[in-house]
Amino acid sequence: MKIKFRALLTMCGDPVENGELIIDAGNIVEIATTQSGNYDADLSDCLLMPGFINAHSHISLTALEKKLSPSDSFADWIRALIPLNSDLDDESRIRAICSGAEVMRRSGVTALGDYVAEPELLPVIGALGFRSVLFLEAIGFLSEKATTIRNNLEEILKRECVSPLCQLGLAPHAPYSVSPDLFRHLALLAEKYHCPLSCHVAETKEESRFLVIGDNSLEELLKERSAWDSRWQAPYKTPMQYLASLGILHRLIAVHCNFISDDLDIMEENNVSAVFCPQSTEWFGRTQLMPVRTLLDRGVTVALGTDSLASSNSLNFLDELRMADKLLPDVSRKEILAMATCKGAEALGLQCGTLASGQKADLIGFRVSPSYSGPWWDVPFEPHRREVDFYRVDGKPDTLSPGQLPD
Ligand SMILES: [Zn+2]
Repeated sequence: MKIKFRALLTMCGDPVENGELIIDAGNIVEIATTQSGNYDADLSDCLLMPGFINAHSHISLTALEKKLSPSDSFADWIRALIPLNSDLDDESRIRAICSGAEVMRRSGVTALGDYVAEPELLPVIGALGFRSVLFLEAIGFLSEKATTIRNNLEEILKRECVSPLCQLGLAPHAPYSVSPDLFRHLALLAEKYHCPLSCHVAETKEESRFLVIGDNSLEELLKERSAWDSRWQAPYKTPMQYLASLGILHRLIAVHCNFISDDLDIMEENNVSAVFCPQSTEWFGRTQLMPVRTLLDRGVTVALGTDSLASSNSLNFLDELRMADKLLPDVSRKEILAMATCKGAEALGLQCGTLASGQKADLIGFRVSPSYSGPWWDVPFEPHRREVDFYRVDGKPDTLSPGQLPD
């Protein structure tokens, strides 16, 4: 397939103007700086770029849209979330998953790193058409349950081939909801099955306090859930030091990282990636947020994610870009687009996120006026944009119609 374009952001070199793109069997064959004719698609009014990579989501929570409010207490937010989530019936949950996917897709998301708490949803989420890492989410603070949880997850890793575009990962939920034994088991399991690992880390001050002096609010929550382990002793470590001591930090995809001022060296040494969730950060009214500028300057991979509609008002990735632009005045739009594309791919270990020969043909396009002369980096941030105008995953157009349930 040969496509004529107005401009193209490779995300691994300079923008290319008035060229052509050749795709074959889902891969990019060539990007030429000249136009030779005989086109299968004329996008001479479009800016093309790699599709967006939503490096952290919980698409199965989409049905909770506008059902929760921000709370001063993180434990209270979790307290409100749990019954709403467990009361959802399958049909509402699946309908919302499909509509959430549609919003992501229309706003240019081609790849996903999604936390999946219910393994029976793997075929549903795997059929949404995104290139994905589906992280099997593990929660269990009682050490005595660690082996059973580990064995159940291994059974899924052994048998599940969700779709050719999907691979599985492991997601221990957070330091306050996963026992040290379960963390250790999951680190070994990830090594055995070559799985990516992701975890919510250093999201709140309550979590940091829990690991240093003990935090009453999280302890009470665990006790209410009959999940408190009486043998637990605060390790007197920062979140990253604690995860390093359990062997889980190397190459971890760490989500949120708001309270990491003492953890920068250890993240760099362990090649930890960070995922910033702009709208979720804003929804909670966080006053301390991920030090993105510092992480980028240290060469740490920083990606972008939507998180879920339990802590955000939108899964529209263009809203996410604009919120990142607002919250990170010292990070350039070019850097934000890198976080949304090539850095997301790097974090998740996917062969996409740049447009170059041999890469996967996951790409999106924005129609621009004939008089537009750049800078091209600004186009996706323009306030009127709600959707992309061109979309391909693996070289193929989106085939799932809005609201359609996958088989
Ligand atoms: Zn999350």
